Amino acid sequence: MEFQYDLELNKIESMIKNKNIKRILIQMPEGMLDTPLKSIITKFSDSNIEIFLAGDASYGICDIAIEKAKFLDCDLLIHFGHTDFAFADRIHSTVEGINILIIPALVTFNISSSLNNIKNKLDELRWRKVIITATAQHLNNLKELKTFLEKQKIIVSNETQIIGCHIGSLRTPTQNDGIISLHAGEFHTRGLLLNSSIPVLQVNPYTSNISYYSSDERERIIKQRLNVITKVKSAQYWGIISSSKIGQYNPTNIESIRQKLSNAKKRHLIVIAENIDTQVLFNMTWVDAWVNTACPRLIDDQERFFKPIITFKEFLYLFGDVTWENLLEKGFI
Ligand code: SF4
Repeated sequence: MEFQYDLELNKIESMIKNKNIKRILIQMPEGMLDTPLKSIITKFSDSNIEIFLAGDASYGICDIAIEKAKFLDCDLLIHFGHTDFAFADRIHSTVEGINILIIPALVTFNISSSLNNIKNKLDELRWRKVIITATAQHLNNLKELKTFLEKQKIIVSNETQIIGCHIGSLRTPTQNDGIISLHAGEFHTRGLLLNSSIPVLQVNPYTSNISYYSSDERERIIKQRLNVITKVKSAQYWGIISSSKIGQYNPTNIESIRQKLSNAKKRHLIVIAENIDTQVLFNMTWVDAWVNTACPRLIDDQERFFKPIITFKEFLYLFGDVTWENLLEKGFI
């Protein structure tokens, strides 16, 4: 089944006209490269405009292709499929002389076919107060969900967008019964479980499937993290992973790690890459442990790193700067 997205073509058209745009760089997730991209080319390519596609995978707004747009001398960069959530300062302070449109590409369908399933599950769980979340493309569905829940007399205490490394203002959620999240796949479920302490009900807006993740599931994931942290305790040679992507370069964290390792007389190397290549890291067999300052979700690929990899927050715990309780409450990523 093919899904439709709101590509906000009128907004693009106005920008082209008002700013006299001549060269455009488009960046979009793989799932939109078929019909959505074709409809943009159909609409704009017979005008006097050159259109380029950023051909690398687009996982998040953290790697918005500003450098490529500059390299190609484009006057407009259009990034589809995300919002500037959690990265607005970095993106907008980096741009010089390039117009940027960030278009979330909201789905054009509603979630009416999921509502009955949601109601049945909530009756079973007896949830009365919840947090609701959604990925960028389902922010319109989030409003629909809120209206539905309020009609069921369920209190929505907080609503927020989520991305893989940021789950908005979901902190201190203990007084809520759970999180209801609109997203597809397991990636965001795992992110929610790693960064909150209450059960998660995932609603897949594409399939209407509902999956419930209890606190037991969170404990299982946390146990895995604890195992990894335990393994790196005696590491002598450390690798600090960093990325040159605009939203993933964290010099303050790198410096903080570097100082702590130096003070502890541990040897270390800082590795910087745009995309972290696990094969490159694999060849550094002398590294005992990795600490990651780039996309924190690299820990999902633990097996591909061959050596243990921990997040910055886990590193702070290891060096006694935060407590285990703090990690549990404030999250691992
Ligand atoms: S840093 Fe990672 S999780 Fe965060 S937006 Fe980028 S790709 Fe997604």
